[in-house]
Amino acid sequence: MKLAHVFIEHSTMHLDRTFSYGCDGFAVYRGMRVVVPFGAKEIVGFVERVEEISAQEAAAYDFEIKRIIRVLDEEPLLNEELFELANMMAKRYIVPRIACFQCILPAKLKPRSTAKCRKLETWVRYEKDIASLTKKQQVVLEAMKEAKEMLRTTYYQMYKSVGKKLISLGCVTVFEREAQAVLGCEEPSGPVFDLNAQQQHAVDAVLHHSAMVTLLHGVTGSGKTEVFLHLAKAMRERDKQVLILVPEISLTPQMIARVKQRFGAQVAIYHSALNEQEKYEQYQLVKKHQVDIVVGTRSAVFMPFDHLGLIVMDEEHDTSYKQDRGVRYHCRDIALQRAKIHQAKLVLASATPSLESYARAHKGIYQLVEMPKRINEQFPQVKLVEMREAVKKKESYLMSNALLDAIYTRLQRKEQVILLLNRRGYTPILRCMECGYVQMCPNCETAMSYHKEEGVLKCHICDSVMPVPTHCPSCHSAAWRYMGMGTQKLEEFIQIKFPQAKIIRMDADTTHKKHAHENYLRDFGKHKADILLGTQMIAKGLDFENVTLVGILNGDALLNRSDYRSAELCYDLLEQACGRSGRGEKQGEVIIQAYDTKHYAIQCAAHHDYKTFFKNEMNYRHLAGYPPYTYLTSLTFSHKQEELAYQGAQLAFSLLKAKSEVRVLGPTALHKLRGECRIRILLKGKQEELLTVYAKDVYEQHLYKKQKARLDIDLSPLYLD
Ligand code: ADP
Ligand code: ZN
Ligand code: ZN
Repeated sequence: MKLAHVFIEHSTMHLDRTFSYGCDGFAVYRGMRVVVPFGAKEIVGFVERVEEISAQEAAAYDFEIKRIIRVLDEEPLLNEELFELANMMAKRYIVPRIACFQCILPAKLKPRSTAKCRKLETWVRYEKDIASLTKKQQVVLEAMKEAKEMLRTTYYQMYKSVGKKLISLGCVTVFEREAQAVLGCEEPSGPVFDLNAQQQHAVDAVLHHSAMVTLLHGVTGSGKTEVFLHLAKAMRERDKQVLILVPEISLTPQMIARVKQRFGAQVAIYHSALNEQEKYEQYQLVKKHQVDIVVGTRSAVFMPFDHLGLIVMDEEHDTSYKQDRGVRYHCRDIALQRAKIHQAKLVLASATPSLESYARAHKGIYQLVEMPKRINEQFPQVKLVEMREAVKKKESYLMSNALLDAIYTRLQRKEQVILLLNRRGYTPILRCMECGYVQMCPNCETAMSYHKEEGVLKCHICDSVMPVPTHCPSCHSAAWRYMGMGTQKLEEFIQIKFPQAKIIRMDADTTHKKHAHENYLRDFGKHKADILLGTQMIAKGLDFENVTLVGILNGDALLNRSDYRSAELCYDLLEQACGRSGRGEKQGEVIIQAYDTKHYAIQCAAHHDYKTFFKNEMNYRHLAGYPPYTYLTSLTFSHKQEELAYQGAQLAFSLLKAKSEVRVLGPTALHKLRGECRIRILLKGKQEELLTVYAKDVYEQHLYKKQKARLDIDLSPLYLD
């Protein structure tokens, strides 16, 4: 008899095991979805393997072998490589394998979905000539013979009653077929540049050196995209597939346009703004080898390639490459794994590489290629505005006179401006106007937020509350100011100052509609607006040559966070934002407003000096014992009832405290999330594998002792606050 071993997902059961079902008479193979009986229910499972067993072996089973009910797929959804990848992920991220399959596959094909993924369309095709047709009928049939086939709706529109008649005569027949992905229209082809010396060097280093991974550290505007396109072309000539990853959908329209200009319509796109059907269609395009180049965000790293030659990860430092719920993978690790298996080249590119990657390149684990020069040979001039001074001089705390003047000049010259306001949340913080002191939470070392309705300060991390102090604890002045504003308020402010200016605002509120990103950016590119204003989604990657001024309103907002990576995040954001100015012929300028202009993150960004920043920051990480000198793993226990979350954490703590070679930090209460209390334990150690082993111990004990809290494990969490 034929036995299928099937993974199933069940809410109360996290066991990573398969269940066996008889499947004689079914065409079923590894990697297909099946419907199986489970208890009183029917659920969807995922076949791990199928084996033939003898009647004797079957009889030896101590339970009744049930049969699968039906098979959902005609062919396996995953090839061997992706199957192995799921196994690897399950081990590495300490999650059940079924969760990895869910993570790898697009929604319509997930093992929990019974969705009819095939959307059918009705077509007609030419079938045969017959005698005794009217003149009109002959003309139409002749046209159909030429066209061979056509969507039925189009056919009816074109030929109306004659068309119907031909169908009833059997000269044209109707059939159904799976809907094909609409490949985006071809872009008019753009300029192909001759590479300059540093670009050529980069291309050669990737193609002709043996290193698998290259870190391409190229300043903003050094022409990295052109390097990717040349590499992609070289790989296509070797008949290899190419994957280009970008961190956010706001960057995909520009990248897609440039890739399509070069490679025509033969490009699949894959990002979170596509609906399920569109994702499925793009997925099938790759699976069926109809396209060989994919541009996409994080989840595109799981596309079903089978002869991959190149993976490019643009803006490799970006935090959106990390998945922070479910299977907490980092896209870079998956890319690395897939590159290994395919023996493909992996190019990690950035103007501000992550500390981890740059440190690896330094050690020679990655090949380091630097592109220090801009294409136009000039960097924008950066001006730092000390906001405490500006406010003392009675300037607006939103925008200094220096920035207002600079905007005015650009509008006069018909040049464009980008304004960046980076702030998570819109509540104001309390700052001393004399010494710059910010009221911080005593527990969390994060800036407290002012809540107007209640007239108190609150910590958004631990929920502690305090009255507004009368005097500054640092200098005893009483010159408190509430500061902070949203993009919306800023837009109003600028519109009043510059009534003629056309403004586009891009933030989470204005871009949730489909194609909103694309449309805004296209309009800005055509100079339909003078000022583009927004949150960090506009800081990166954009290439508009008429932008000669970038204003950053609160340059040190990121430094007020407790996270050990706050300086790195601040530097990245400033450097990337600077990179948007003066990309064309005209000289660019950047104005950074900040309260702590002396901080090395701000100073280094102002001088475009990544190397000094790297040295400073590595020094700090070394002293404080943070990555990349150590590894971190977080274990978070969540439950609606605080005691139950604590119980879980305490069990873990008692298991871990005796272990040598790791430091156990916590248990620490984090802020509530979606009504759940969360208690975290942080493991810190020099050996990554050991942390995984210990985390796995905790995971198993947690299940074994039937703890009520949910346990989430994150190997190398990006944020600690
Ligand atoms: P990066 O991705 O490094 O920020 P881009 O690839 O966007 O830089 O290139 C910056 C600008 O320079 C783009 O407008 C691009 O079209 C142009 N460019 C790139 N390579 C060349 C070249 N070899 N010669 C002339 N212009 C180039
Ligand atoms: Zn707090
Ligand atoms: Zn003070």
